[in-house]
Amino acid sequence: MVELSVVVPIYNEVENIAGLYNSITEAVKDKTAGYEIILVNDGSTDGTERKLDDLALEDPCVKVIHFRKNCGQTAAIQAGIKKASGKYIGLIDADLQTDPKDFFTLMPYLTEFDFANGWRTKRKDTFLKKISSRIGNGVRNWITGDVIEDTGCPMKLFKREVAESLHLYEGFHRFMPTLARMNGYTVVEVPVDHRERQYGTSKYGVMNRAFVGLMDAIVIGWLRKRAIHYEARSE
Ligand code: UDP
Ligand code: MG
Repeated sequence: MVELSVVVPIYNEVENIAGLYNSITEAVKDKTAGYEIILVNDGSTDGTERKLDDLALEDPCVKVIHFRKNCGQTAAIQAGIKKASGKYIGLIDADLQTDPKDFFTLMPYLTEFDFANGWRTKRKDTFLKKISSRIGNGVRNWITGDVIEDTGCPMKLFKREVAESLHLYEGFHRFMPTLARMNGYTVVEVPVDHRERQYGTSKYGVMNRAFVGLMDAIVIGWLRKRAIHYEARSE
């Protein structure tokens, strides 16, 4: 068992792979009692596969999963979590819009909380993306009844038991803090750095994210209301 498993969902990010590997390794190598980097290739068709295989050959800390075809970001995250052996599991996107160094901004919070979610307080995205995200978070909170400022922040760190408690469906990666709370775990949001995407493009459009996200929020809100909580007096 290692201390930290870093899980990365990856779909057509060939230009980001070298930087991703270097910056994660640089950030974590002297700071943990053992780590692994789990790179999940979600059916890329752009040469990502070869790059990942080369890394796995060079570095035993790198573990690679290849999907047969594109199955979606939630599936990639789920597969990575399932393979992870760490006491703590960190998530980050391959586009490096967040900085792997911030795993150690989040880490101290895990003494008091079970799940530390990044919060992009100084977001470097297009105006359209920033405004749609702000509206999205407001609507999501209103529908789900939970309060999370930046549920979509790609930088997350949580304990292994939180990961084991999650039952993810497509799109649910956007609700992981709320799902963790529904399972009885504590969540904190912590400001992290954010920068512009340097290479490659976003895999989502504003409209599909908004529409699907709205449907998913309704489902999560319903599940949250139907969650069962009981305490036995004796067993
Ligand atoms: N991703 C994935 N499968 C998909 C779509 C995206 O594994 O079907 C990965 C993608 O390569 C990136 C992360 O999920 O590492 C987030 O995607 P993206 O940056 O495009 O989303 P955004 O940041 O614009 O929400
Ligand atoms: Mg991104």
